[in-house]
Amino acid sequence: MREKTQSTVVVTGGSRGIGRAICLAFATDRPRLFFNYRSDETAAAETLAACRAAGADASAKAVDVADGAAVAAFFKEILEATGRIDVLVCNAGITRDGLVMRMLPADWEAVIGTDLTGAFHCVRAAARPMARQRSGRIILVTSVVGAAGNAGQANYAAAKAGLIGLTKSLARELAPRNVTVNAVAPGLVDTDMAAALAPEARGALTASIPLGRIGTPEDVAAAVRFLVSDAAGYITGQVLHVNGGMYM
Ligand code: NAP
Repeated sequence: MREKTQSTVVVTGGSRGIGRAICLAFATDRPRLFFNYRSDETAAAETLAACRAAGADASAKAVDVADGAAVAAFFKEILEATGRIDVLVCNAGITRDGLVMRMLPADWEAVIGTDLTGAFHCVRAAARPMARQRSGRIILVTSVVGAAGNAGQANYAAAKAGLIGLTKSLARELAPRNVTVNAVAPGLVDTDMAAALAPEARGALTASIPLGRIGTPEDVAAAVRFLVSDAAGYITGQVLHVNGGMYM
């Protein structure tokens, strides 16, 4: 990431939860910050105001990452405005949980379409400008579930495992152009997504965390921030687990 001139940072799903914490972690560097979201205008407006208050030249837009044409248009606008992309964080994600024997194909496709194909659309749009400028950082937000699996989340686990393969392949493709590609794999993090868990499941999961607490969005944002820093310049193709020790 360039230190001296204003950098361009793009965060998907930046309006709530982990994405909001990531946007705020970057905002104090005063970047050109672009984040998207799917439909929650209120959350997006709150995050936008907080990022601007922290010093970022921030913009937000409703863009469905599963829609390849919409993603291409979003990145075209960003490139027309700034001429470069220094950091891309693919964070947007959804769950549609259920056991495989009861899972509807639509629930499989929705999760793969947003969590995996959505990230593909974004990295595809950012890879060329990063390669051309011979610098860049890409972070894909995967999950502990992508490494460990989870009953009731086959669609989500498949998408998140796919992101790990995408990370490693893209890291190899872009390393000659000085672009690093890494994944951050959160465990259980206190956001709206985790709030959807039944209280018993949440209690059992918390009990399985050696550090004895659920993660915060800021725990994850700090890991993303590290992987984007100059200190992480020799790290690529890796998965950084941020999970309190629940999976080692
Ligand atoms: P969250 O609170 O539900 O927020 C999800 C964000 O993604 C929102 O900004 C949402 O926008 C956006 N989004 C969802 N679908 C989208 C789409 N099709 N196009 C564009 N934006 C979309 O989720 P979170 O807990 O912060 O999770 C963030 C990431 O971390 C996800 O990839 C998730 O899988 C991963 N993760 C979370 C946990 C956890 O325990 N929370 C654990 C491991 C991994 P709208 O509000 O407009 O829908």
